[in-house]
Amino acid sequence: MQFGSEPQHVICPHCRVHGRTTIETGANTTTHLFALLLCIFGLWCCVPCPYCMDSCMAKKHYCSNCKMYLGENE
Ligand SMILES: [Zn+2]
Repeated sequence: MQFGSEPQHVICPHCRVHGRTTIETGANTTTHLFALLLCIFGLWCCVPCPYCMDSCMAKKHYCSNCKMYLGENE
């Protein structure tokens, strides 16, 4: 199952309800890696940037019915 950055229609494997996912934005490994790279290059003032940029953050999809975690985009 591939997840994008927008809420999408899924059949929840937990409660079997067909509905749209709820999205929560959070930092993932890529976000931390990005921040680490900025440190290495001495761009200290830019280190918080990945945490503010939507494109660097993971979009975590949850079932809108049972609130179970379904997956996240890459
Ligand atoms: Zn569910």
